[in-house]
Amino acid sequence: MSSEGTQMRVRIAPSPTGPFHIGTARTALFNLLYARRNGGTYIVRVEDTDVARSTAEHEADILEGLRWLGLEADEGVVAAGEERGDRGPYRQSARTARYAEVAQQLHSRGLAYHCFCTAAELEVERSARDKAKLPPRYSGRCATISAEESARRLAAGESAALRFRIQPGVVVIDDLVRGRVEIDAETLGGDLVILRADGSPLYHFTVVVDDADMGITHVIRGEDHLSNTPKHILLFQALGVPLPKFAHLPLILNPDRTKMSKRKSQTAIADYRAEGFLKEAIINFLALLGWSTGSEDEILSVEEIQARFDLDHVQKAGAVFDRTRLEWINGQWIRKLSHDDLLARLRPFYDRAA
Ligand code: GLU
Repeated sequence: MSSEGTQMRVRIAPSPTGPFHIGTARTALFNLLYARRNGGTYIVRVEDTDVARSTAEHEADILEGLRWLGLEADEGVVAAGEERGDRGPYRQSARTARYAEVAQQLHSRGLAYHCFCTAAELEVERSARDKAKLPPRYSGRCATISAEESARRLAAGESAALRFRIQPGVVVIDDLVRGRVEIDAETLGGDLVILRADGSPLYHFTVVVDDADMGITHVIRGEDHLSNTPKHILLFQALGVPLPKFAHLPLILNPDRTKMSKRKSQTAIADYRAEGFLKEAIINFLALLGWSTGSEDEILSVEEIQARFDLDHVQKAGAVFDRTRLEWINGQWIRKLSHDDLLARLRPFYDRAA
């Protein structure tokens, strides 16, 4: 239970646009550990609104990888693709009507407006700002169109996106890892498209609607999302729901300290599994990617990690992905296996090679 007495609810929200990634696994683990430590519920939601890039194969790979690592959901989408829990659906592709309903509420309260700008008009604006060395920002050209004018244009068959009004001011994030972060709303790119002209919803909007509907109390995710959080906070406030607490986990870095990428590091969990890494070793290694035990102990089971885990010992600085360390941890875990267990784990490799 959290201090407010509400039941803690955390989630991971993978997009099935690529294979199950080391970074997603680390986020899943930290969410699970935090939930277990605090008697909370750990939810898996599939963010498949990017229809062009989402595939059933990637979703299956992510769910199977989570199951293999022992990170299966308490609630939400589970290994076989089934859903568990009563606050679903837990796949965004099944929630379109809900997004349209909430967008409509924001519009009727004057917090969102129809934007008739065409792609070509927006491109002219964008390139003018680019030439003036200014970051992209919507001018707000449609923000002052009257309700009557807007209704007339829609009735005449003009297509329009729906934009959320970004109010000026400073947005404060009280991050459980990073402390107080202040971001000026001026830097957020202007009023935010929440529904495209074809009615499809955008990520910043869906994530907030879902976190609100699913009663998420703590949003624990990668630092790459920190710059998105002010938009989410403004949307939560507009919906009139309590803000979750935020914790942004340090980036995972290649050995040369650039952001972890497929080109420089092996990122797919399935590739480590196929190479024979033990799940215990991967969990142990992932836990230490940004969190420290505060002691010399390095080889820890998930139960031992769970007993010690807290966000206070999560670092702000990026965590370097060191494959040699993973191999060492794997060696330690292999030595801990009983002969029978080792044999059972070797068997599939032997059968495949035979
Ligand atoms: N779907 C997002 C991603 O895969 C996660 C969003 C979130 O955790 O808020 O990066």
